[in-house]
Amino acid sequence: MSESFQNVQHDDTSFDPAEQAVHGQADAPSAATAGADSAFAPLGLSAELLRAITEAGYDQPTPVQARAIPAVIDGQDLMVCSQTGSGKTAAFLLPAIERMNRNPRTGPARGPRLLVLSPTRELATQITKAAEQFIQPFRRMRVVSILGGMPYRVQNAMLAKPYEILVATPGRLIDQLERGRIDLSGVEMLVLDEADRMLDMGFIEPVEAIAAATPATRQTLLFSATLEGRVAGLARNLLRDPQRIEISTPQTRHDNIAQHIIRADDMAHKNKLIRHILLQPDVTQAVVFLATKRDCDRIAQELGDEGFSVAAMHGDMEQRSRNWTLNQLRQGRVQVLVATDVAARGIDVPGLSHVINYDLPRAAEDYVHRIGRTGRAGARGTAISFAGPADGVVIKRIERYIDRKVDALIIPGLESRRPMRDGPSGDRPGRKPGFGPKRHGAPGAGRGGFGGGGGFGGGGGRPGGGARSDGRPSGGRSGDGRGKPHR
Ligand code: AMP
Repeated sequence: MSESFQNVQHDDTSFDPAEQAVHGQADAPSAATAGADSAFAPLGLSAELLRAITEAGYDQPTPVQARAIPAVIDGQDLMVCSQTGSGKTAAFLLPAIERMNRNPRTGPARGPRLLVLSPTRELATQITKAAEQFIQPFRRMRVVSILGGMPYRVQNAMLAKPYEILVATPGRLIDQLERGRIDLSGVEMLVLDEADRMLDMGFIEPVEAIAAATPATRQTLLFSATLEGRVAGLARNLLRDPQRIEISTPQTRHDNIAQHIIRADDMAHKNKLIRHILLQPDVTQAVVFLATKRDCDRIAQELGDEGFSVAAMHGDMEQRSRNWTLNQLRQGRVQVLVATDVAARGIDVPGLSHVINYDLPRAAEDYVHRIGRTGRAGARGTAISFAGPADGVVIKRIERYIDRKVDALIIPGLESRRPMRDGPSGDRPGRKPGFGPKRHGAPGAGRGGFGGGGGFGGGGGRPGGGARSDGRPSGGRSGDGRGKPHR
């Protein structure tokens, strides 16, 4: 890595794209002057890209961008451990486009020069959109995405014209490779995004087969939430002398997200809690995670019947309707997304104020991905997890993984009546707090409660903004056009 970038000082949580977008528009330099004074200029990017970055509203490179961009331009293989929302997409797209622009293709077009593999369609769609934005200054560049669920007719038409960038999910790409529709012999750079997730989803063989269809001389970048275990094995097989970049580990991740646990006795109790939380004024938009598709549909239906603006998302749904739902969410037309882990990665909706784990995930790593749907790009967020009587072990596992205790909250009127089996130490009477329950509204309760200051209804959970004895909220906004219940 070049010396000049070693000193770039950044705080992982200090950039806010929303703010920067406004700033970017207000101060947008003219086409002629854009770039030279950009904070991205020392990273080695061309004037065209610097302009595209300014247009995207980015003022400062994020830490992962500051470290990865020059290394990728230099031709290094990279293993990058960085949190979701850290700006990792631009960290590989910008230098990849820079390299392609510096060395235009000679000879006939033979499929993609940059191949990006993504575990989910949602993530692939985000990457494709970002790529489309950054290649705007380069008229001859095209990006194509090959995703499961897309009609073959449409895909074949897209593949028929020359293109430089291919973003794909592994299953569908293998399919198209086997049909002889894609030639990967011209790939210069392979990016494995969220490699850990691809392995979790059983994509190891497709990923290795795809890599084998690309030239051994390619540059390879691997991005993952963890660089250990099976990911390290994959990297050994596919990367050459990689430089390791670790921006943040699970232990330091998501400091901008207030995390809470609420003890829940059973589904009926969870149902009361969820309604109560969703009616709090600071909950602008929320994702509620459930373990099964069936429960997901059921809870979405019930909340919808009660007037919440809600949509469901799970693996049984067509890609088209998943995309439609995401757009609705992005436009603020849906307040609550009820989802399975299908939505735990790849959703980048700045307005999501809360993540609620109605059911806890089985793997601690999934917890980190789920809560990363809020607090995007350094904004503040809140994650609330319901913990049932048998969830003590899962909570311990999560707390070990994130290396911090998660505050327990009690909502007056909605307290748990059942003890937790194998609960963390602080859960038993007479023990020091850690995961020790705190009364919501009590001094020191959970970092200012829900999203700052007032907590539940601003009244510490008391009537007027909190829960009544039947668990039905007595406060909360309604019918404000942002998806609160229209009663
Ligand atoms: P990612 O981690 O790639 O999913 O990016 C998370 C979000 O941060 C996306 O909305 C990006 O558009 C945004 N973003 C990426 N880099 C920057 C930057 N340097 N400045 C402001 N926003 C950024």
